[in-house]
Amino acid sequence: MRYDAVHRALLPWYDRHARDLPWRVGPQALSHGLRPDPYRVWLSEVMLQQTTVAAVKAYFERFTTLWPTVGDLAAAEDSVVMGEWAGLGYYARARNLLKCARVVASVHGGQFPDTEESLRALPGIGPYTAAAIAAIAFDRPAPVMDGNVERVMARLFAVQTPLPAAKPELRTLTEAATPTHRPGCYAQAVMDLGATICSPKSPACGICPVMDMCEARAQGIAPDLPRKTPKKPKPTRFGIAYLARRADGAVLLETRPDQGLLGGMLGWPGTPWSEQDPIPAPPIAADWRDPGLEVRHTFTHFHLRLSLRLAEVDMDTRPLHGEFHLRATFRPSNLPTVMRKAYDLGQAAWRDD
Ligand code: SF4
Repeated sequence: MRYDAVHRALLPWYDRHARDLPWRVGPQALSHGLRPDPYRVWLSEVMLQQTTVAAVKAYFERFTTLWPTVGDLAAAEDSVVMGEWAGLGYYARARNLLKCARVVASVHGGQFPDTEESLRALPGIGPYTAAAIAAIAFDRPAPVMDGNVERVMARLFAVQTPLPAAKPELRTLTEAATPTHRPGCYAQAVMDLGATICSPKSPACGICPVMDMCEARAQGIAPDLPRKTPKKPKPTRFGIAYLARRADGAVLLETRPDQGLLGGMLGWPGTPWSEQDPIPAPPIAADWRDPGLEVRHTFTHFHLRLSLRLAEVDMDTRPLHGEFHLRATFRPSNLPTVMRKAYDLGQAAWRDD
């Protein structure tokens, strides 16, 4: 296949059909000399890791309103940023986001470096994100390969090897196909093609700008690619979360350790999560009751079943760990999703008492 034929077909399609995204400088604006803001490109790419465009939009708007520049974000308080990130998941990203902003602000004078290599030296920026920022923000010919690009490449070249074993082959193809002319637009064009036309289950080949070059379409196997190695079933872990409430409405929360799942986020004190039955470990002396409520949540590598215990505690009882958050300052939206689910169930049970 001639790669330049793909570029010739894809770039004019992108010029007409580029998705309108809040972090994107579209082809029209680019042609009028506008340049993307590397801060916004970086922020969007970090938020989009493992997360859909639809879920990210509101967070992106909020972050860029609160912190319009990387310097503003670097100066923000950790707990405020973690609170704003709550609900977006994969919380290590938020911790690295702050670390990265602070390095850019203090070491690079508030300017993101403009090469893949120097971007990769920043906290939380891996090969994919470095390539995406280099291509989109600085128009460098960096090969950008996300899930959408993998799918388009697997189909264009009829790659039969199942994922994840196919990744090196797909990467080689992505590198070879990356042009030196308008590489940033090309990278976004392939992403958009994967997101809008070359969709996972039913690709709309009839309106695809590269249909004449697509080997999977020619062979009639487009919906079957990329092939995937069946995943092992996820294990289930069990735990107990303790929801304690004082007479003044304050609730007992703890900040989870920086290392580990939901690191740095607020949460209800509780037992470790394991595949064995949890051993009760209440965080404060109280008359704990079991209302028979359970939160179910799925993380990347396991399902969680979190059993709830509720208690009303005296004003002067001190917790073994965690601290009380007053009703006036506690924002349930600052909790990560699994803890928010526990809060919502606990609230309903308290209301029914
Ligand atoms: Fe995807 Fe079909 Fe286009 Fe091939 S022709 S790239 S399978 S949408």
